[in-house]
Amino acid sequence: MTKIAFIGLGNMGGGMAANQAKAGHEVLAFDLAAAAVEKAVAAGCRAAGTAAAAIKDADVVITMLPAGQHVRAVYAGEVLPNAKAGAILIDCSTIDVESARAVAAQVKAAGFRFADAPVSGGTAAAEAGTLAFMVGCDDADFPAVEAVIAPMSRVTIHAGAHGAGQAAKICNNMVLGASMIAVCEAFALAEKLGLDPERFFEISSKSSGQCWSLTSYCPWPGPVPTAPSNRNYEGGFATAMMLKDLKLAQEAAAKAGAATPLGAQAEGLYALFDRLGGGPKDFSAILEMFRGNGPPA
Ligand code: NAD
Repeated sequence: MTKIAFIGLGNMGGGMAANQAKAGHEVLAFDLAAAAVEKAVAAGCRAAGTAAAAIKDADVVITMLPAGQHVRAVYAGEVLPNAKAGAILIDCSTIDVESARAVAAQVKAAGFRFADAPVSGGTAAAEAGTLAFMVGCDDADFPAVEAVIAPMSRVTIHAGAHGAGQAAKICNNMVLGASMIAVCEAFALAEKLGLDPERFFEISSKSSGQCWSLTSYCPWPGPVPTAPSNRNYEGGFATAMMLKDLKLAQEAAAKAGAATPLGAQAEGLYALFDRLGGGPKDFSAILEMFRGNGPPA
């Protein structure tokens, strides 16, 4: 049995920590939100009163936090001062490549093994233990990191050195943001043309329009029962988070001198939906903007 400190038990971290507990590990859970800790305890984790208390005896520390500044602060203030010698440190948050590399450098200088291991798959996959992990770490550390991740994962791929996991993630989410907008525009157009949206789903999901945004995460309620569209766009991948990832992609593209015009359009459209009040809703709720409505209440 491995002792795992799990810091950040939100929409994603809650399900991921629960799967580590289900796999028989001792999970010491900490989040700033007491309700998130209570939920983790109900799922088999042990509550830690502070991040330091969770970290100090752990063999593995997993963080699942909102953004780069949270990860930098938690590593500098909590993880590095408290981790025990030999611990493996894994950050699963989606953050900027620069922060991931900066944290990796500090962690390595302190003598620990580290991986940036962001995930793809959404909250349903976090709960089911079927996330895709893209890992940036030293070659020699990958087998140990992969073994730790296994109870939360359907597939784990070594993307390359530190920061490569985050690079893979922002490129993937740029595809996701743009493809969701394309699917939403198509549903809004189908509706305006008098085509039954469910019939459109049936056809496009078996035609060349097929993609994850359509068939696994359909923004139109009905065809995919597990999609957030069936629960008023609550509890999935928030628009504000998608906007964060699209901004990360644009910042990275500007620094690397890459042309990403569709990614830029997607960022602009999600920024607009966010300003209209859609920030807390799942990113597939942008459908309502294309239908000429405000964000769902
Ligand atoms: P969330 O906001 O639901 O959860 C983040 C949690 O971190 C919150 O419970 C918050 O209280 C906690 N937190 C913040 N600062 C903390 C601190 N200093 N110490 C302890 N806890 C702290 O976000 P989420 O949807 O779970 O996403 C987490 C990360 O996963 C983000 O980087 C996001 O981009 C990424 N991600 C999300 C999804 C998704 O579908 N939601 C999918 C893939 C990746």
